[in-house]
Order: sequence, then C-alpha cells, then structure tokens
Amino acid sequence: MPPVTRLRPFTSTIFAEMSALAVEHDAVNLGQGFPDTDGPETMLDAARDAISGGRNQYPPGIGIPELREAVSEHQRDHYSLDYDPADQVLITVGATEAIAGAILGLVEPGREVVMIEPYYDAYAAAVALAGGVRRTAPLVADGDGFVLDRDALAAAFGPNTAAVVVNSPHNPTGTVLSDDDLAEIARLTIEHDVVAITDEVYEHLIFDGREHRPLATFPGMPGRTLRISSAAKTFHVTGWKVGWISGPAELVAAARAAKQYLTYVGSGPFQPAVAHALRHEMPWVQADAAKLQSKRDLLSKALADAGFRVHRSEGTYFVCADPRPLGIADGAAFCRELPARIGVAAVPVSAFVDHPDEWRHLVRFAFAKRDDTIAEAAQRLRLL
Ligand code: PMP
Ligand code: GLN
Repeated sequence: MPPVTRLRPFTSTIFAEMSALAVEHDAVNLGQGFPDTDGPETMLDAARDAISGGRNQYPPGIGIPELREAVSEHQRDHYSLDYDPADQVLITVGATEAIAGAILGLVEPGREVVMIEPYYDAYAAAVALAGGVRRTAPLVADGDGFVLDRDALAAAFGPNTAAVVVNSPHNPTGTVLSDDDLAEIARLTIEHDVVAITDEVYEHLIFDGREHRPLATFPGMPGRTLRISSAAKTFHVTGWKVGWISGPAELVAAARAAKQYLTYVGSGPFQPAVAHALRHEMPWVQADAAKLQSKRDLLSKALADAGFRVHRSEGTYFVCADPRPLGIADGAAFCRELPARIGVAAVPVSAFVDHPDEWRHLVRFAFAKRDDTIAEAAQRLRLL
C-alpha cells in the first residue's frame, strides 16, 4: 500500500539518498550537513555522567528545568529576549520536531504557510502533514550572494495565511537576511496578523563579523514569534536531537499539544549535557565559527579552482556553487553521478524548491569537515 496522498512527495529525503550514494562509492560526503569532529569535551563528559548517573528515564514533557533555564538565559544574554522557562520554553526532539510541532499546532488544514525558497525540506513535509498549503517567496541572486524578493514575499501573504517560516542564516544558500529584509518580514507578519516561526539553528555560525538578529527582536514581533533552535549544529551533535522553541506561552502551548503526541519526550541524558554546553561552552562555539569561516574559504577556493562559480556563504555549514561554467546545467543529475565519478557527494538545491527552473543548476556543498577531508575533496574536485 502506498503512503497517504499527502506524504507521497516525501517518501525519501535528499540527504538519505546522497549519503547512501556516498557510502556506496566511498565518497567524501559533502552532502548531508554533519561535522566530522566532536563537540566540546566537557559537554560529552556531561552526557556520559548523565547516563552513569541514572538520568535515563522520561524527562518532563516540556524538558528538564536546567535546560529550559539555560535556553532562557542564553537568549537573554545574546539578544536581550526574555522567555519564562516555566511556560515560554519547550524542549523538543531536535529543531525538526520543533518545526513540525509548531506547524501542526498552529496551522489549520487549508491555511497557507509562507516560506522562503529554497526552503529546508522539513518545512514542506510538516505543512503537508498539517494539511496546509505552501506559499513561497524566492531568494534572488544579488552579485555573488542572495537577497529576498520582497515583492514576491508581499504577494505570498494573503487572507488565508496562517504563518511564515523564516530561516536565517539560511540553509541551503548560507545567506544571512539583512535587517531590512527582516523588517519587511516583520511588517507583513504584523499587517496580516499571523505567526512567525523562525528556524535559527545556525544562529551562532555566522561569518565575517556579522551578527545574528532574531526576528523576535523586531518591534511588535515578540508576541507573535516562535523561535526555534537546536544543539545539533552549534555543538556538533547532530545525532543527539535536542532542540527548543521559545515564544509566547499560548503559542508554545499550541506547539506542545502536537509535540507531546509525536514523541512525548526524547534525548533524556543529552538534555543536561546541552544545558551545560549553553552555559559553559559558548567560547568553544565562537572559536568553531572562526574555524568554519576558514573552512568555508578553503572549500569555496577549491570549488572555484575546479571551475565552479561560487556563491558567497555568510553563515551555516554550506556553500552553493554553480556548475554551469563546467558545462553542467542539471544539478540533480550531476549530484547523482558525482560520488561514482570522482568520489564526492553534494546535494542539489532543486530538492528544496517548488520552482526548479531558477534553481536547477545549483549545488550545495557542506564545509563543516576536517581540513584534510576538505583537502581530499579539493583534489577529487580537480578531476572535473
Ligand atoms: N533546520 C535547518 C535549517 C537545518 O539545517 C536543520 C539540520 N540541522 C534542522 C532544522 C534540523 O535540526 P535538528 O537536527 O536539530 O532536528
Ligand atoms: N540539516 C542537515 C542538512 O541540511 C540534514 C538533516 C537531515 O539529514 N535530515 O544537511
């Protein structure tokens, strides 16, 4: 029996597909975004201590108090945002569950959700699960970077809009939305009286001296924004699946209503470890962001040397490259043959869009890898 109609477009993920090809061909995996080094040692010790200390049963449904407090303090320290750990912070099974919980809890069937194209694949699947309708506004090329098409964004909002999903720093392009773009998103969100769901999992992985500005810090936004983040990318623990949502109590409660029947809870012994990391390991994260910036430079240069036109990445784990100068116009076909051809895996940006024509060529590469991994990939890319 096939899956239900609304899930048929989502039977496999591009990450699973490309990682499987990478394994099959022993390729350097620059596709799925995971680092090949561990996070801070004291955080790993805290997880081991939690397991040997018997913290292996269900944590409270909203997350352990020390993690909710650490999440709350973290946002006060970094952005002067105030969330009461009692009912304005919810711990989730990664940002993925936070996104699904927010959308399932807040979007009625038939209502529309605006998102920026390209969009992280989980948004589309969550909207489909909710029976909602996806509306997109594209990023458009601006020099070697991307900016939001504000006219398209305004046109995507309408009387049936329930929410807008905003992801900055942006996966897959590495774009950091400008304050002007964020202000326009805020203006439309308020004008249409809808909720903003912000995916800020790359909030600390931002380069060239730029600063992350949460949408929730814009006037009029704290009361209508659900802010989502996660330990995965910040602390190199993509397998731990510890995420969180912060926002007004009634919006958090809506997300929680869905979340508690998806998993109820998860990642018990990892929750105290992430609380520890948020409190004590932000200097490690800062140093990691500086390292990531130089890895971005290494991989961007390798791609340019191999003949790609490389876009500017301002944050995240990713850089996008245009293979058309190499005579390649179909990024998806290229990614499918790349592991066998030269032993490198990447991800086609067309997997994250509704309008493939504009994005057909583009390919995403992950640079959150050891320098020797990037050097090996660089050597292989030269074979193109
Ligand atoms: N949103 C974006 C933009 C991502 O890149 C990822 C992957 N880290 C997620 C959400 C999912 O995060 P998690 O692994 O915490 O579920
Ligand atoms: N967030 C990771 C990426 O963009 C992948 C997560 C996943 O495999 N679903 O590469």
